[in-house]
Amino acid sequence: MSMTSSVSQRDGSRISDGVSSLPKPLVLVVEDEAALATMLRYNLEKQGFRVEEAADGQEALTRIAETQPDLVLLDWMLPVMSGIEVCRQIRRRSATRDLPVIMVTARTEDQDAVRALNTGADDYITKPFNMEALLARMRALLRRSNAVPVKGQLVFHDIAMDLAAHRVTRNDRRIHLGPTEFRLLEFFMQHPRRVFSREELLDAVWGPDIHVEPRTVDVHIRRLRKSINGEGELDVVRTVRTAGYALDTEPL
Ligand code: CA
Repeated sequence: MSMTSSVSQRDGSRISDGVSSLPKPLVLVVEDEAALATMLRYNLEKQGFRVEEAADGQEALTRIAETQPDLVLLDWMLPVMSGIEVCRQIRRRSATRDLPVIMVTARTEDQDAVRALNTGADDYITKPFNMEALLARMRALLRRSNAVPVKGQLVFHDIAMDLAAHRVTRNDRRIHLGPTEFRLLEFFMQHPRRVFSREELLDAVWGPDIHVEPRTVDVHIRRLRKSINGEGELDVVRTVRTAGYALDTEPL
């Protein structure tokens, strides 16, 4: 019997009040070659990732909005919409601006690599590629975006969450949070720098079946801020006018 009460997330990860199982990072594989997509899924799942697939550029954008992946492996040559255009769109939208993207290209010319990076891809890899090399790049990117918890720890800037011990610290100072603020912070720390609307936060933190006023989110954000921002410390909760909130160290 489970000792913890938990709330199922839309993305399949779980937020719980007690011992938390680590969410596996979700990778969206955008690839029109079915054999390559299957090979990638097999290898990534073996390495502890969750995998979603899209076979063309338009589907990629839809799946990103639906599943909120932690990283996108994006093929360059795609039907309907090219990988370059998909990447542009990802960067244009505030919710996905900081989503890690690795371009996968059959092209070998340096100019194309430069073009991929100019479009906003974080990294690129040329086909045929070595799986180990790809995994190393993916892990490096995920570490940078703080999406991978290390041994039950979530870290963002100077804030650390120990999910198993249910402990939050900032600059090694212990921080006490109410259960809702704890879940809010946990959700934010799983998706740093991403902007979430009040409705999205209600869905993710309170659950889709719970009907509360969107204004309730503001109340808990205020409490969270008061608890985690100490004297002279940076406010890490960013308010994005009309859009919502994000965990971020950058000013507007
Ligand atoms: Ca292709």
